[in-house]
Amino acid sequence: MTVAPTSDDLEIRLHGRGGQGGVTCAKIIAALYADLGKSVQTFGDYAGERSGAPVRAYTRVSDRPITNRNKVYEPHHLLVLDPTLLGDDVVAGLRPGGTLLLNTPEPPAAFTERFAGHRVATVDATAIARRHQIGTRSVVIVNTTIAGAFARALELPIAALEDAYRHLGFESNLPAAREAYDAVRIGFARKPEEGAASARAASPASRPEVLPLVSHVEGAPTGLRTGAWRTQLPRYTHHLAPCNAFCPAGNDVIGFVQALATKREPEAAVVLSRTTALAGVCGRVCPAFCMEGCNRREYDGSVNIRALERWTADRYDVAVREPAKAATPRKIAVVGGGPAGLSAAYELAKLGHAVVIHDGEQALGGVLHTGIPTYRLPREVLRREVEAVLALGVETRLGRFLDREGLAALALEHDAVIVATGLQRLRRLEVPGSGLGGIEQGIHFLHRLNVGGSARIGETLPLPQRGEGRGEGRASNEITGHVVVLGGGNTAMDCARGALRAGAASVTVAYRRSRAELPAIAEEVEAAEHEGVSFRFLAAPAGFVGDGIVSAVVLADVELGPADASGRRSPITTDRTFELRCDAVLLALGQSADLSLVPPGWTLRRGRFFLGEQPLSVFAAGDVNTGDGTVAHAIGDGRRAAALALRALGDDVVVPVRPDRATAVPATDIRFDHFARSAPTLDRLVPVPARLSGFDEVSLGLGDALESHRCFSCGECTRCDTCLVYCPEGIIRRKELGYEVDYTYCKGCGICVTECPRKAMEMSAS
Ligand code: SF4
Ligand code: SF4
Ligand code: SF4
Repeated sequence: MTVAPTSDDLEIRLHGRGGQGGVTCAKIIAALYADLGKSVQTFGDYAGERSGAPVRAYTRVSDRPITNRNKVYEPHHLLVLDPTLLGDDVVAGLRPGGTLLLNTPEPPAAFTERFAGHRVATVDATAIARRHQIGTRSVVIVNTTIAGAFARALELPIAALEDAYRHLGFESNLPAAREAYDAVRIGFARKPEEGAASARAASPASRPEVLPLVSHVEGAPTGLRTGAWRTQLPRYTHHLAPCNAFCPAGNDVIGFVQALATKREPEAAVVLSRTTALAGVCGRVCPAFCMEGCNRREYDGSVNIRALERWTADRYDVAVREPAKAATPRKIAVVGGGPAGLSAAYELAKLGHAVVIHDGEQALGGVLHTGIPTYRLPREVLRREVEAVLALGVETRLGRFLDREGLAALALEHDAVIVATGLQRLRRLEVPGSGLGGIEQGIHFLHRLNVGGSARIGETLPLPQRGEGRGEGRASNEITGHVVVLGGGNTAMDCARGALRAGAASVTVAYRRSRAELPAIAEEVEAAEHEGVSFRFLAAPAGFVGDGIVSAVVLADVELGPADASGRRSPITTDRTFELRCDAVLLALGQSADLSLVPPGWTLRRGRFFLGEQPLSVFAAGDVNTGDGTVAHAIGDGRRAAALALRALGDDVVVPVRPDRATAVPATDIRFDHFARSAPTLDRLVPVPARLSGFDEVSLGLGDALESHRCFSCGECTRCDTCLVYCPEGIIRRKELGYEVDYTYCKGCGICVTECPRKAMEMSAS
């Protein structure tokens, strides 16, 4: 009775020596089964790659397509082309009842006791091949001969054997194969307990030295010691993932995405909470720098990381609820309750410090509260995350804008002060007609839209002059007719989309550069277009026309010159102008830090204030310090400022440093061919007509976190087994948190490193 392929794969292993044609013999056997309509796979490995060196070859047969590419460790049948190889290690793994075909003049009875439990077949293939003059006088090639014996031993029809030889062009060797077919002798199986211990039952102590390292593939053939000729060794290493390098908030992006991918969702929330309390906010409004850096972008589209961050924050508590340390006596004031201030407060409160946030508004959030419309950021999300910061014991003083005296007093009363007042100075436009009614700063419009009442967003904000149009004739947030928005950033998009919802009949955004240079988030621009906003590119404001109230914007044609410091092509305004009729104008021309809050004599250097040369215990965080202008940057800089303040107070804390993007794993180091293509899962969006009827959130995010499965895990091992499978020596084995290489047998070929799909390995000098 032979072990035959039914629903399981049939696996066959051959042992021979270099020059005997063992790999070709495995191919003949594969061809034989292929002729019988089976799926087949065959390959060999060559150990020391020299004549006479032990060679193993493998054949797999199945009724289904074969995807298993491992070597064969537990064969159903075994062929040994050279009797001198015969040892326990060679037969190790042979399944009970499996056929052991030996090239030997000895009868099966000479082996049945030694290999009890197996079916032993013998044939003197060397003598037959020599008679048929296959090979040379000194080196007889037995492969085509013993394949005939194998067919008989496995009860395969001689016709299939003949077909296989014809397909492979071995007809001249058929007589020898037929002779072996007739000559093979088959012994009788005995139960293991009737004979000596079987190879499978060999005690671990009797196995070759390599086996303990490959216990997951028990029975692997013995490797060759590599000795001094190996000059390099593979190592498992961590490399910086680009998503981590690109996130200005300092989030461990790969950490939380991989936690999602491996169904450890609560851990994803814990990973995020280490660096941010505003994951739900960033998951909605961040430009997603991480996705810009994501290596998957080069393949089939970035992983939708931002949406995964939102998904996590909307379902799990992404916040540290308890300070990690007992309360300290340190008192720290934070001026400004926007993202930078909240981030600094979160970091400080986590360490047990007493923090008070001062803000002129009646609610925390800064621009998140006053500037970003609710259709992008529902206020319950902001409230939830602000409350998480306050839950750490952070106190607030709201509704009073500080002046210079107030800031100086805080500095005297506290161990440290962190100034996080954002970008309060609005760029104005000094062109003819700019004093007309109906022209308003976009930030003021958004403030009215989001908070209602006065558009005043801070004592330090330069108040619009009478006639500049702030709220004139519009006590509510209504805006009607055709609205022109001047600018191309995110504030411009918020103004345009907000105006459509607030009652504008139509909106045009005029921007002085081309579409390619638009600084706004691409999705925001796209959404604005879908909602009906028009764009006029290469058009710069040259004046306004109107009789008390603006009725048209005068726009000048712009041509693009060479790239400026920002890397964008600089606009060159021509004297060709045209008028764009309008009923209202919103200015979104940019903002900058306003340091008029700072007492005389104070200067800001590298995030810290100085009085002359004397460092003060006053630090700047977020936009007021960097001018970067995004929530993610503000969060990252808030953390940095908190750490800097504590360092200055003598605490042993590490000031976070933005990683060098150039050191991140490049896309060229990712083995794309190991990954199936799949398009990103995009956020679900409310249809346009439903959007415009109110201020409800437009994006519904993701329905699940399966998008995380697209993550390559750049630079971090996922235990995918690729190295283990590809190592030709079979000397990599799993251990609890990764793998272990048996360096005694590693030849330093680097195949494992080359095949690692994600650069989680590298070669180094041995
Ligand atoms: S904060 Fe922005 S850049 Fe960082 S992980 Fe979130 S979406 Fe990506
Ligand atoms: S594929 Fe994953 S690990 Fe790599 S950059 Fe993208 S999110 Fe990060
Ligand atoms: S593939 Fe195997 S033999 Fe080659 S370097 Fe890697 S561990 Fe060593």
